[in-house]
Amino acid sequence: MKPHFPMLAVSACLAGVACRYNGEAYPVAAVEELVRTGDALPICPERLGGLPSPRNPVEWRAERALDEQGGDWTQAFLVGARKAVGIAMTLGATGAILKARSPSCGCGCIYDGSFSHRRIAGDGLFCRLLKEQGVQVITEEEDVAAFIRRHCGGGHE
Ligand code: SF4
Repeated sequence: MKPHFPMLAVSACLAGVACRYNGEAYPVAAVEELVRTGDALPICPERLGGLPSPRNPVEWRAERALDEQGGDWTQAFLVGARKAVGIAMTLGATGAILKARSPSCGCGCIYDGSFSHRRIAGDGLFCRLLKEQGVQVITEEEDVAAFIRRHCGGGHE
């Protein structure tokens, strides 16, 4: 296999990295396979922002990334998302498969800031910044196989 830049960025937790707020991964076989073949790079914007795992769960409220006790993590989220986008753009990634509903990685739907599992339309910060750069984003709950075919060709069946 020739060395090549990955075409996709993926949430590191979907690739099996235990970087989530609860100290766990959320592995998805198709994403793990993309990383194995060198077609995707796992990125965790929250870890890049210096946050540990496990950490307090955070939701967006009035443009602030807050935990349930009112702790404000906005700066770490901003720093991490900007670093993560910088990495994705350096690679020339054309697409990203990100973890649904995360305050960083969620795409099209996030939690509403009340910590009551209520969902609203919106993107996590990393997702939003990627979209601003023209990167196509989906979550692991969408048609991942078709997305991979579009961005990486047909070798992943
Ligand atoms: S920030 Fe994204 S990659 Fe990191 S644990 Fe949360 S959902 Fe996964």
